[in-house]
Amino acid sequence: MIPGSFDYHRPGSVQEAVGLLAQYGDDGRALAGGHSLIPMMKLRLATPGHLVDLAGIADLKGIRADGSDIVIGAMTTQHELIGSDLLAQKVPLLRETSRLIADPQVRYVGTLGGNVANGDPGNDMPAVMMCLGATYQVAGKGGERRIPARQFYHGAYFTALEPGEVLTAVRIPAPAAGHGFAYEKLKRKVGDYATAAAAVVLIMNGGRVATCSIGLTNVAETPLWAEEAAKILNGSALDAATVKQAVAAAEAICTPASDRRGTPEYRTKMAGVMLTRALARAKSRAA
Ligand SMILES: Cc1cc2nc3c(=O)[nH]c(=O)nc-3n(C[C@H](O)[C@H](O)[C@H](O)COP(=O)(O)OP(=O)(O)OC[C@H]3O[C@@H](n4cnc5c(N)ncnc54)[C@H](O)[C@@H]3O)c2cc1C
Repeated sequence: MIPGSFDYHRPGSVQEAVGLLAQYGDDGRALAGGHSLIPMMKLRLATPGHLVDLAGIADLKGIRADGSDIVIGAMTTQHELIGSDLLAQKVPLLRETSRLIADPQVRYVGTLGGNVANGDPGNDMPAVMMCLGATYQVAGKGGERRIPARQFYHGAYFTALEPGEVLTAVRIPAPAAGHGFAYEKLKRKVGDYATAAAAVVLIMNGGRVATCSIGLTNVAETPLWAEEAAKILNGSALDAATVKQAVAAAEAICTPASDRRGTPEYRTKMAGVMLTRALARAKSRAA
């Protein structure tokens, strides 16, 4: 349980971090809160020779409004997401999700950037970001680019991030005022990753669904955006028969692994149960 030896670097700017990561190539790794990376290093599942700690880069911190978008610096901690008045007002789904991640000790240091860049299907924020239509801002040697969360996840621990790139911020189009939202997560105990979880954001108009978006956590190699399921719900009053049809469509794209949390069949069904609950709660919250 002791990591291999490595050199530690603490750059003061994004440019410096990008330069270091480019210099060390496959042997370098960005370090954020360390609450996914350090356990992997202790198990020798990751053996970087150089850790580039992003903690000294002030530009990577903070939560701000930019027009109708909310921009969250990659090094913003999960604890800071919970405490943000701006997020509570504009994107309350993030507060709800953060409170279901691990425990306070992890959330004090675990960052949003680390959670979404990690590529672990068990992380909660990626499906939420897909649900919200977020975009990831990334800096590399070649300059800056933006990657939609819905195109970022290619496989377990395999993302659109190129070697040497640093995720600098997450940009979220704030859902319209009065939107309904919910994140429902089944876990075996406090601090556990999801057996299955579902994120919902919807807007109701005259008792019917005007728009709906759904994300699913830990029921495939990547987080899932359940586009078909949401389409089925559009225009409906979220009646039981339509919800059942949408849940079946969501379950149809689930391909969870068998692990200590359950069989693929069980976890798929639990994704459906979480989605049913999330839809009901989102509806009850929608203006
Ligand atoms: C006991 C325990 C329980 C947990 N339970 C949950 C849970 O229920 N749900 C959940 O979602 N998470 C859970 N986690 C994980 C936790 O949320 C981590 O903090 C998070 O996954 C990674 O964030 P980090 O800041 O610690 O990143 P790190 O561990 O430092 O980095 C993770 C990976 O992302 C890369 N990275 C980090 N930041 C950047 C960046 N800005 N640009 C490019 N690459 C970057 C690193 O190189 C590394 O590969 C748990 C962790 C522990 C220890």
